[in-house]
Amino acid sequence: MPDTKKCAYCGKIFNEKMRLCPYCGGERIKEIIHENPVCPICKVEMTNYSYRENDIDICPDCNGLWLDIRKFNYLTSEREVFKDDAIPHEFHKKPLQKADSYLSCPVCNSLMPRINFKKISGVLIDVCRDHGVWLDPGELEQIRCFIANGGLHEVHDKEILVNREAIESLDTRLSDVEFMQKLLHHWKFKRWIFS
Ligand SMILES: [Zn+2]
Ligand SMILES: [Zn+2]
Ligand SMILES: [Zn+2]
Repeated sequence: MPDTKKCAYCGKIFNEKMRLCPYCGGERIKEIIHENPVCPICKVEMTNYSYRENDIDICPDCNGLWLDIRKFNYLTSEREVFKDDAIPHEFHKKPLQKADSYLSCPVCNSLMPRINFKKISGVLIDVCRDHGVWLDPGELEQIRCFIANGGLHEVHDKEILVNREAIESLDTRLSDVEFMQKLLHHWKFKRWIFS
């Protein structure tokens, strides 16, 4: 008998491995296992740490950081970053390297997907959508440096480029259709001559 969960929305019982309730489509809310976040690498309780007037959690052993999504968004906003003049004026993209295995969320213990922040920064962050963001030592500074040096605009430019490419490929597809029509027309024409 697999472990089951009760849906928080419709009350029906389903397999706890499923992310969505098969009856109502409600998303399973991950349970809080640690009231105080636990470092996913050192397995010790994290301690409070004040970073630019924000209370975040730091691991006393490895200095990894844990932030809830709201604080992460705030500390990685252009508005906040541009106020900080201690950030270097150059961003060096570092090669992507990380622990081999996925890390578990410091709050609910479920494995966190790893994301390349804004797809092009090269900073790999581990995210639990329900609880927060795990950052290895130095990653918060790296993300802030990426933003301070116009990283988000680069992302925006890239999105425009991708859209333009999509439009161009649409153009080729249209001319492919035209080409096929011409070809068919040509065959009909041939059949008409030789029949
Ligand atoms: Zn449900
Ligand atoms: Zn640690
Ligand atoms: Zn979690």
